[in-house]
This record gives sequence, structure tokens and C-alpha cells, in this order.
Amino acid sequence: MTDQLARADNRDFRPRNADQQLRRRARAVIPGGMYGHQSAGPLPPEYPQFMRAGRGARVWDVDGNEYVDLMCSYGPVVLGHRHPAVEAAAAAQAELADCQNGPGPVMVELAELLVGTVRHADWAMFAKNGTDATTMCVTIARAHTGRSRILVATGAYHGAAPWCTPRLAGVTAADRANLGYYTFNDLDSVTAAAAAAGQDLAGIVVSPFKHDAGFDQELVDPAFAAGLRELCTRTGAALILDDVRCGFRLHLGSSWEPIGVLPDLSAWSKAIANGHPLAAVLGCGDYADAAASIFATGSFWFSAAAMAAAIATIGALRAEGAIEAMDRSGSALRAGILQQAAARGIEINYTGPAAMPYLTFAGDRGHELAGTFAAAAIRSGAYLHPRHNWFISAAMTDADLAKVLAATDEAFAAVQLRQHEGRAPQHEGGTT
Ligand SMILES: *Cc1c(COP(=O)(O)O)cnc(C)c1O
Repeated sequence: MTDQLARADNRDFRPRNADQQLRRRARAVIPGGMYGHQSAGPLPPEYPQFMRAGRGARVWDVDGNEYVDLMCSYGPVVLGHRHPAVEAAAAAQAELADCQNGPGPVMVELAELLVGTVRHADWAMFAKNGTDATTMCVTIARAHTGRSRILVATGAYHGAAPWCTPRLAGVTAADRANLGYYTFNDLDSVTAAAAAAGQDLAGIVVSPFKHDAGFDQELVDPAFAAGLRELCTRTGAALILDDVRCGFRLHLGSSWEPIGVLPDLSAWSKAIANGHPLAAVLGCGDYADAAASIFATGSFWFSAAAMAAAIATIGALRAEGAIEAMDRSGSALRAGILQQAAARGIEINYTGPAAMPYLTFAGDRGHELAGTFAAAAIRSGAYLHPRHNWFISAAMTDADLAKVLAATDEAFAAVQLRQHEGRAPQHEGGTT
């Protein structure tokens, strides 16, 4: 199938007949036709909604168009699509059984592996989605401290439950009553929010770096991270690292290990099982009793195949030097993109770690230029995103990278054209 699909040449862009038909059928039976981050809202109309297949760093839409994948399913795919060792481990487990009356031995093996891999972790619990994990962290922090108030950074994403969803439809004031807000990398704002919480401070949730959708990314100031750690230790509040998006992409351990700051609790999902459904909460020993005291479960939370996939994923990340590979490909992509933009005199911001970059255009508040860029890139076979950070997988080859850079060069040409068109009316008295 791969060879057959690989013949699709994006210059002969296949019309999106199958995609259009599925969208039409979806609108009749799925509210809004699609929901959440998969809804078409933030994406230009050139993007397909429905996907057919993926191998390594390439994906194919339902009409057979091929793309180099720079979104990695919004984070879960880290080793590339259909990684052979991960798929073999999941299939071998599924052949025995997946969803049973009790978990398989892989649950204990995976917990041991995580405790041995992530420095702050003395124990692990498992769930399905990142939202499960962040919500459990908050519940465990409250159970441990007997306090209510949780601090989060303004604009940060921690999931789609009423306590944290970015959309307020259906959310009550009571759902948010025990939250306080701070500004990422601004320790004074944390100190003020902690003071407002007083004796009621249960925990502080923080992302490894600032990766709010649609904004330039900001790496963490190590002094900020150390300040959070100190404040939590002093007040007895839980430091909760939301490693759902970054975990196992930047470091083979929690994402703040390289700066020497260890959280009490951390939330994981996305890359942990290379696309298989799994989330984890990891914690230090002090929080084990509180973690055992909460009622946390789900019908599918003990399924064994995803746990087998996670064991194989973590093994392959290590064996293949995947973290270094993503950093290398990401650095080459960054160098190429910066050079292309400079050559055309286009002012951009290219922010975040090399393996999780994000591109914005100077002054492009409404994301119009980002939309033009993304629409041209997808037509030339690079699947990236105009309003969300991108993800580089370890499967990216030199050929994939060359194809991406050819696509981004065309995309910058499209942006340049649009900028000229935009300026023309001023220069020529509005006649164009
Ligand atoms: C995606 C994400 C979540 C939520 O994970 P889901 O699996 O979508 O529930 C939480 N925190 C961060 C930082 C995320 O990127």
C-alpha cells in the first residue's frame, strides 16, 4: 500500500472528492461535522479532514495525497507512524488479550520502567488521555494537602475537562472557583497568586515551556522553575509538571531534568506509546498515599496492548537515539527555514525547542500570513499547522526534510506574493 500511495505526486494534487464526501456525511451525524482540535476551524480549507494511512514520517489523506507529517497526530507519534517494534509489541499483547478483568503483567513492567527512567518518579498510575492525567494530578494534590486552590498559567492548555477547557460553553463558575492564575516565567506573579491562595494552596500546574496555541513559544527560565520548586517546598503545595505534550520528545525523562528541577507529580500522555492510547501520572513517594486514596479508573484504563506499546516505545526511544535524532532534524529544519525567510526578506519568529517549533510572521495578529503559508505548504506536501506548534518525529529522513524545505520555500513565496499584494494599494493608490 505504501508504494502505491507513495506514487501520489503532490504537484498533481488529487481533488478532495473522498474528503468532501466524508465531510458532508459527518455534518449530518457529528455535531458541527467535527469537534475539538480536529475541527476544521483553525486550518485553511486546503487541509484534508480525513486521513487514510501513515508510515514513518509520511501520511496520506483519503484521496491519496501524500504529505511529510510535521504534526505527528498533534503529539502522540514520536518514532514515526507504524513503528515496527511498537506495533509488534502491541499486536503480540492484543493477540493474548487487551481489555480484561485485570491488567496484564505489562502494567507492572511499565511502571517499573517509568520509575527507572523518570528521576522524580517513585510510582506510576495509568489512564487514557492527557486530561485524565492532569485532572488526577490536581485531585491527588488536593487529597494530599487537604487544600483546594490550584494555580495555572494564564492561557496554558491542560486538557478539555470543565476545570481547564479553553472554551467556556457549559462550564460553571464553580468548576473554576478553586483556580488562581499566574504568568509563565514571571515568578512575582506566582508569588502574588500563592499569597492570594494563602493557606489553601494545594498545587501549581506548569508546562515545561510556554506552548500556548497561536502564540510564539517561550522556553522556561531555569530561575523561574527553581523558584516554583522552592515555593512549593516551602508551602507544602504540589509542583505539578504537565509533560503531556513535551514528555519523551525533549528528554528521556521529565522535561525539567536537564535544568535540575523535579516536580512532585507529572502528567504524561501523547508520545508515551507512539500513538497507542495511554496516559500516566508519575509521582514522588510522599504523594503515594494520596494517590492510592483517590478513586481513579476507566473502562479502558487497564488495557494491556497500549502498555506493551509504551514499553516498546520507551525502549526504541533509547535504542534509536530518538531524542537526539529529533533535535538534529529539528535544528536542520530551523536553519533551512530561517535561511529561506531571510533570503526573501520576510520577518518571522521561529520559536521553541528544535523538535517542537512554531512559526509566526511579524505583525500577523490574525494569522492571515500563517494561513497563506500553511495552505501553500500543504499543497506542496508538508503537513504543518498555522496556529499550533509542530512536532518533528524521529522517523524524519533527509529526503523528508528536503521535501519539507521545498514546500516551505514555495510557502514563503506565497507569503511574499501576499505581502506585495497587501502593500500594493498603498503604493499605487489603491488601484490593485
Ligand atoms: C494535549 C494536552 C493535554 C490534554 O491531553 P489529551 O490527551 O488531549 O486529553 C494536556 N496538557 C497538555 C500540555 C497538552 O498538550
